[in-house]
Amino acid sequence: MRYAILSDIHGNLEALRAVLADAAGQADAVLCLGDVVGYGADPEACLELVAERCQATVAGNHEHGVAGLLDLDWFNPYARAAAEWTRARLSDDARAWLGALPLVREVEDATLVHASPRQPDEWEYLLAADDGWGAFPAFTTRLCFVGHSHVPAVWAERSRGREYRLRPDTIALEPGARYLVNVGSVGQPRDRDPRAAYALWDLEARRVTIRRVAYDVARAREKILAAGLPRPLGDRLLAGR
Ligand code: ZN
Repeated sequence: MRYAILSDIHGNLEALRAVLADAAGQADAVLCLGDVVGYGADPEACLELVAERCQATVAGNHEHGVAGLLDLDWFNPYARAAAEWTRARLSDDARAWLGALPLVREVEDATLVHASPRQPDEWEYLLAADDGWGAFPAFTTRLCFVGHSHVPAVWAERSRGREYRLRPDTIALEPGARYLVNVGSVGQPRDRDPRAAYALWDLEARRVTIRRVAYDVARAREKILAAGLPRPLGDRLLAGR
């Protein structure tokens, strides 16, 4: 079994389509870690594709913001503007679907959660090595997949010691070890690589690979500007930051 694990699509349909096309021959099923909407110009189309294609989806802070479950005062001004724009454009059905997503799911031997398995609705950022180690006691599966920071990373707890790597490419899963993996962002990468990021988890090969996929960044940016969303939300896509 092989899973494609997507996070932080953020209404970027060009990036989502490119990632699904890349995953098509390589994954048997698709999982989503939330933040399907917010920032980008195509929230409803992304949401429909995710609902149709993903076997399991958990809620992100942007889902909770748009669904009215999280006060928008928690958002920075651009995120707040995008959440209000998105909320006004989604159908009632779409908003209800977002609001009903669970915070945590388990699939095979992995926990799926948007921000952190420790108090998932606190939307904690796991940015530095120490942030990740503190999250291990909060999940019981062998693996935990997260998004939220938009930067791919892996924390490995092995009998011979711990290892933290930023922007890993291939992660070999060793017997007895446990892993926390940030899969990066499909629709708004922030590691200075503008290509869309997602993870491929191959159970038989015991491997997680972070894939990068080029997509039509210029078109996604133009749609953001044409929609009247804050210009920096389009510009940042060009630099992946
Ligand atoms: Zn996000």
